[in-house]
Amino acid sequence: MKTIGLTGGIGSGKSTVAGFFQELGVPVYIADEAGKEIMETSETAKAEIIALLGEKSYQNNAPDRPYIATKVFNHHALLKKLNAIIHPKVREHFKTWAAEQKAPYVLYEAAILFENGGEKKCDFTILVTAPKEIRIERLLKRDRSDRQKIEARMNAQWSDEKKRKLADFTIENLDIETTKQSVRQLHHKLLRLITA
Ligand code: ATP
Repeated sequence: MKTIGLTGGIGSGKSTVAGFFQELGVPVYIADEAGKEIMETSETAKAEIIALLGEKSYQNNAPDRPYIATKVFNHHALLKKLNAIIHPKVREHFKTWAAEQKAPYVLYEAAILFENGGEKKCDFTILVTAPKEIRIERLLKRDRSDRQKIEARMNAQWSDEKKRKLADFTIENLDIETTKQSVRQLHHKLLRLITA
């Protein structure tokens, strides 16, 4: 069983691309969702997060995401520590999940991959890209968020140029039908590479 990492900046189309792989029968693990679930259900995670960010991190036994976000946003050391609490738990959960899948490879979709060396745990990596302005427009449409907030989140992520150097494959997600075709082609290429 091979692991293919799939990443990309906000609004690049990671989930859209993951959906196309899924249509081809590829099992997809969404690390960000798993991370959220672990924050909600793991007592160890809860205790560690409270120790790091304070009692206010949890309200009525549930993580207070806006509070946690404001604590770690632009605070690199704290964000790193928070990730160090969650990521190993996600990895363990992923390993168990992957062992149950019956497919030549699985996709590990994560907003943060290269930033924490996650590519080293993948056999291959795929980066989804699109120009910043297009990503902003997509997110304005999807989330009804405001431009400033989107730009602040984008600026906190690694640039595509930096990630492109580390990725094995890049999918430029502009026209949706072209993206779907690129996914199909890449799927067959991966199958050839894996079974070679
Ligand atoms: P995030 O990291 O913010 O969750 P993402 O990288 O997973 O974002 P998606 O949710 O797949 O991105 O895409 C963002 C929005 O853009 C969605 O509403 C999606 O439907 C739309 N979208 C994705 N790809 C395209 C495309 N090629 N053309 C037009 N719209 C697109």
